[in-house]
Amino acid sequence: MTSSDVYDIAIIGMGPVGAAAANLAGQAGLRTLVIERGDAPYRQPRAIVFDAEVMRIFASVGLAECIAAVTRPLGGAVYLGADLQPIRKFRAPPPVDPLAWHPSNLFYQPQLEALLRDGLDRFAYVDVRTGHDVVTVEDGAIRMRGPDGDEATAHARFILACDGASSTVRKALAIPLDDIDLSNGAVEFIAGSHRWGVNYRPTPFRKGHEAKFTSSALQPLPDIDADRGKFDIRSWTMEPGDCLVFHAMIVHGAPGNDTPGNRRRGLSLRYTGDDARYDPRPGTFQFPHKPDLQPGAPMTCDLFPRVWPRR
Ligand SMILES: Cc1cc2nc3c(=O)[nH]c(=O)nc-3n(C[C@H](O)[C@H](O)[C@H](O)COP(=O)(O)OP(=O)(O)OC[C@H]3O[C@@H](n4cnc5c(N)ncnc54)[C@H](O)[C@@H]3O)c2cc1C
Repeated sequence: MTSSDVYDIAIIGMGPVGAAAANLAGQAGLRTLVIERGDAPYRQPRAIVFDAEVMRIFASVGLAECIAAVTRPLGGAVYLGADLQPIRKFRAPPPVDPLAWHPSNLFYQPQLEALLRDGLDRFAYVDVRTGHDVVTVEDGAIRMRGPDGDEATAHARFILACDGASSTVRKALAIPLDDIDLSNGAVEFIAGSHRWGVNYRPTPFRKGHEAKFTSSALQPLPDIDADRGKFDIRSWTMEPGDCLVFHAMIVHGAPGNDTPGNRRRGLSLRYTGDDARYDPRPGTFQFPHKPDLQPGAPMTCDLFPRVWPRR
């Protein structure tokens, strides 16, 4: 593959966010690929208002005038409940704010999206592929399925995931989506236990998995739950995007998620130092994929790439 086969940026999804981003990329002279599953803007309006900051973005790509022509300032609004009684009132903001554009602009989403898409015709180096569904994204390679079911792969130095609330890209990259607390399986830690100097055997807490590591010669974990007050147990609620970093030897565990409908997904990564060795002894935790390593070998291999060489 030569560098000319690689786009500067690929934008996945051409809703309002992707279409605006594609105009910005085109304006910046970037070789851009836009991939959109639909053939035309989605016909149902959903978003209805944007503010002056957004209008400034449209102005920066030369589209403010045509977009302003199809918007009108929001003159206040009353939201009614199912019983037609007001549930919320918004007062009309001043007509023009210091940013020169109206602070609240009402729009019809399919029309706005069409104008943003039309704007892309100005840029010869922005390729738009509608009717293409991105199936997965891996190492800068974007695999997509075209209208006839034919598959194609494109490469880009940067990928912008603008594929909405059920994002394929977010799923492909296993980016966490769920709020986590003790009700759906937040991990609990015993503060300071990494200094106890004991290698405990892995202990499944999920019902039905108890027998998994019985062949281990390592010491069984004490029954922590029988006397929780004896230990300094800590846990944290987490939101999508949060990250917990902890020492591998700290005693930690989660009982699983017993809350129906409340998912708990996350991405777990293991980092080792240069001195770690592969030690696949019986009764220890096994990796889902077998590394191409001999026992006693340093960890660096395809499955455990070296991320930060010290020397
Ligand atoms: C029922 C409903 C009501 C709403 N009401 C309001 C409201 O009153 N006010 C408000 O401000 N906002 C509202 N919204 C939110 C508004 O729709 C979104 O904020 C806005 O559309 C988000 O824009 P976007 O470009 O990020 O994503 P989207 O508009 O969702 O666009 C994503 C694009 O990516 C494409 N795509 C997705 N997956 C792939 C893939 N794998 N391959 C290729 N293309 C893909 C989709 O076809 C779509 O065109 C509402 C949303 C819904 C669903």
